[in-house]
Amino acid sequence: MIGLGRFGSSVARTLFDMGYDVLAIDKDEEAVQSIAKDVTHVVQADATDEETLRSVGIRNFDVAVVAIGDDIQASILVTVLLKELGVRQVVAKAQNELHGKVLHKIGANKVVFPERDMGTRLALNLVSSNIIDNIQLSPEYSIVEIASRKEWYGRTLRELNLRSRLGIYVLAIKRESELLVAPAAEDTVEADDILIVVGRNKDIDQLERV
Ligand code: ATP
Repeated sequence: MIGLGRFGSSVARTLFDMGYDVLAIDKDEEAVQSIAKDVTHVVQADATDEETLRSVGIRNFDVAVVAIGDDIQASILVTVLLKELGVRQVVAKAQNELHGKVLHKIGANKVVFPERDMGTRLALNLVSSNIIDNIQLSPEYSIVEIASRKEWYGRTLRELNLRSRLGIYVLAIKRESELLVAPAAEDTVEADDILIVVGRNKDIDQLERV
């Protein structure tokens, strides 16, 4: 983990809690101190320095996360160095679209936009009372958890006909502690069910109204 702002330190702590070995690097001493007890190793260093990355054996790690936001130049330099040093999987946090494009071009395997994505999720949650959670698959498509509505109770998926009416696919139905994966057309939707669906954002938005 390179860069221990709010995002980087949260990812590092979570991975360590899940049982993974986590090396956390930051040039700021305070940032390093505050996470020292919550990860496997910490190093206080400037990650744009190639020798530093070599000396910590960075290429032995399965994944490196570049969580430097404000200093776009540093984030780009570190990403290039990590790929040059042979790190297989590099995940980089982008500040904006252009930064994200550059990170992709120079070899980042995955680019994340935590602020933008969290903003989209919150906005969707705010405007649609039924949507419990969502994963943005692309700017156009999402997977959404949506609470069953009164009008749907007791009706089969065939009757609701979401696929041909709205192009929305029901991937699973959560019912209490059970998960019914790939439900059949004859399966019914009941009160308190949660539907997990995939579709275009604008069609999912329609789902709220039909
Ligand atoms: P947040 O996740 O809190 O939103 P942010 O996107 O604002 O973070 P920054 O604060 O710019 O990101 O950077 C996160 C961390 O990365 C900071 O603790 C900073 O010290 C560290 N950092 C920045 N440049 C380097 C570098 N060259 N080498 C190591 N650490 C760095």
